Amino acid sequence: MARRIADLTTESLDALLGERAVVALVPVGSVEPHGPHLPLGTDTVISEAAIARAATLLEGDPSRPLFALLAPAIPYGVTCFAEGFAGAISVPAAALTAFARAVVEGYLAAGFSHVCLVNNHLEPAHDAAVRAAVAGLAAGRASVACPLSRRWGRTLSPEFKSGACHAGRYETSLVLAAAPATVNTLAAAALPDLDVSLSDGIKAGKHSFRAMGLDHAYTGAPARATAAEGDELLDRLGTMIATEVLESLASI
Ligand SMILES: [Zn+2]
Repeated sequence: MARRIADLTTESLDALLGERAVVALVPVGSVEPHGPHLPLGTDTVISEAAIARAATLLEGDPSRPLFALLAPAIPYGVTCFAEGFAGAISVPAAALTAFARAVVEGYLAAGFSHVCLVNNHLEPAHDAAVRAAVAGLAAGRASVACPLSRRWGRTLSPEFKSGACHAGRYETSLVLAAAPATVNTLAAAALPDLDVSLSDGIKAGKHSFRAMGLDHAYTGAPARATAAEGDELLDRLGTMIATEVLESLASI
């Protein structure tokens, strides 16, 4: 279990900072509709659970002793695609970038060695806004871990690689592993498979779930999700985060 920064006292954090290098892992998500079966906070839940796996990997690497701490989340994002569904709370990209940048700079000023923004809300404008938040910082000081890239996407499940990566088998499996009590499993079991690739829809110039035919704010196959698959996916996301952090630290 990762140490949570929000649960520390100032004295216990001070002791950690004095003992070895400390990395802050900041979950980034969105408040966004995820079908009739997953919670609005799904993306933040996934980021937090993946961070727990990454922290174990990072703190277990004897070649580079460090503490990896779970930071309080940035739970709002750019969610234009979900417009028209209840619970799509979008913030402007520039506001997200400025806020995330301030959070990163705050940790660095407080003596943290590195900050990683861990993002699992995969809307391209949101991803770009998060990446912009660390642009121009000194080498090794900050990183972004997000599966919206060829490098990490190919390590995930067939459904994810197909582009049907919103509230389908991929995300439902992850939430079943991370926070099972928040999944409406009866609703998920009743949902028919929907073979709509978001990446293909974006390439075709469509900019909303409704325009792509996602009438219930999901695509893919939520009925086929399992906690076991989610557990395996969390390991892969944890590896992604740990690798991004270690590669950034190695670049100093
Ligand atoms: Zn999501």
